[in-house]
Amino acid sequence: MKYPKLRELKEAVIALIKGPYTTKFPFKPHTPFPKFRGKPTPDEKECIGCGACAEVCPARAIEVKDTVADGRATRSLIWHYDLCIYCAQCERLCTTEKGVKLTNEYDLVTFDRKTSFSEITKELVLCENCGEIIAPKDQILWVAKKLGPMTYGNLLVFGTLQKHLHVSTEYTQPETDLPAKRSDMFRLSCPKCRHQIFE
Ligand code: SF4
Ligand code: SF4
Repeated sequence: MKYPKLRELKEAVIALIKGPYTTKFPFKPHTPFPKFRGKPTPDEKECIGCGACAEVCPARAIEVKDTVADGRATRSLIWHYDLCIYCAQCERLCTTEKGVKLTNEYDLVTFDRKTSFSEITKELVLCENCGEIIAPKDQILWVAKKLGPMTYGNLLVFGTLQKHLHVSTEYTQPETDLPAKRSDMFRLSCPKCRHQIFE
């Protein structure tokens, strides 16, 4: 083109008067725009450990790791920031709507990508008959809160709530003498054992 476009000339004059458009980061902290999608940060209190966020994460950046040892079971939820694409699907589709939030933290550069993660751990409830993982305790208690008085209609939810409130005995060690019997009705049971109890 022979002549500079008028629009470009206008921008050049504005830049001369107002100064550069770019920020001075890293010499001066940059203030992100409202609604900026930065580091997803899980909330230990609000997260129930259901793992729904890992299912919807398009980058497979959320790892769900279940560990069972000596009758104690835990679930770790790990956000790997080196894989994250900051799409906010985990925040948008979180079961409790508060389990994880994208913050405006953007400076996540590291020399060791293995250190770029956040992790929270949740206690898992095991089947007291066969030892199978049922669900995170917080997830069952969250369901109990949602159900209100209807909790009494579900033996698993009711039983977990009772143990949590110390109304009934502590968790019993899982047994492996399948099949579960009618007398196991009030033990915390996985769906498979529950079928055996009531068949
Ligand atoms: S509560 Fe939300 S953040 Fe926690 S595991 Fe479930 S979906 Fe993910
Ligand atoms: S922001 Fe997107 S890519 Fe990152 S952890 Fe959440 S769902 Fe996965």
